Amino acid sequence: MPCFNEQCVLAEFHRRLMAITSRLELPIEVLYINDGSQDRTAQILDTFAQTPGVRRLHLSRNFGKEAAMRAGINSAKGRAVIILDCDLQDPPELIPLMVQEWHKGFEIVNMQRRSRHCDPWVKRTAARCFYAAIDQLIDDFDVPSQVSDFRLIGPHALAAIRSMDDNAGVLKILVSWLGYPSTEVNYDRGPRQAGVTKWTSLSLLNLCVDSVLAFSTRPLRMYSYLSAASFLVGSVWIVATAMFGELTHLHLLIQSILLLCLGTAGVGEYVGRVLTVVSPRPKSLCIRDQPEARS
Ligand code: UDP
Ligand code: MG
Repeated sequence: MPCFNEQCVLAEFHRRLMAITSRLELPIEVLYINDGSQDRTAQILDTFAQTPGVRRLHLSRNFGKEAAMRAGINSAKGRAVIILDCDLQDPPELIPLMVQEWHKGFEIVNMQRRSRHCDPWVKRTAARCFYAAIDQLIDDFDVPSQVSDFRLIGPHALAAIRSMDDNAGVLKILVSWLGYPSTEVNYDRGPRQAGVTKWTSLSLLNLCVDSVLAFSTRPLRMYSYLSAASFLVGSVWIVATAMFGELTHLHLLIQSILLLCLGTAGVGEYVGRVLTVVSPRPKSLCIRDQPEARS
């Protein structure tokens, strides 16, 4: 469970989680990742960790949910991992159902939102745009729509993810890329039970850009086509200028299209992505608990 400033909801979440895991006839390790919280989350998690079978990792600062999830995956000791938000939007009561699906042979069990009626309009629209963009720009494999980070990841998929660099890409997309047998289970995602969301439109846009850049070079291909098209238009422009005089506006338009593409698709974003991937830094750093939990 990635946790960032969740002091208001943790007690209730933990109570419900422990109630359900104690009924499962499986050895369970409960692992909280404190993603650099500034409220009382760290102290609350330290208290939980006094119970056998409950652990927590404290990241040295706020690295973001993706990094926190990856830290959890790297540190978890169980054969399979279930990731869920700790604001009770992902009901812990669905864990037995997820385990059941895993035992049927699915390596990945994605929990798929049946509806988003509890989300504000702007978030619903942004999510629709996110999946439409992913669908258009990533064409090698399918990414199921409306799946959150609430999922079970089986042992083979876990081993594959751990064998990859921390910067291998957004987890939601990476698990689809793996291509392991997966299933979707519908659920109703309720409203956050307490505390405030850390979600912003910009965070979703960043997630979308990161998802595409890590898994698709289609924007670069589109840029190549656009360059070819503008070359053709430019050639026509030269001929037209010779015949009818100056066409400055058209010239400026083509130049600005090329600059925009070069900046966003070419030099800017992809070079930035290369820098992230070759960076020697891990995606997050752990300050307390298990020293092996470098993620
Ligand atoms: N979270 C995190 N690091 C962050 C932001 C969020 O670990 O930088 C956790 C947060 O504590 C929660 C989950 O990620 O358990 C989902 O966050 P939130 O509820 O704010 O997002 P929303 O459900 O509104 O999209
Ligand atoms: Mg939430």
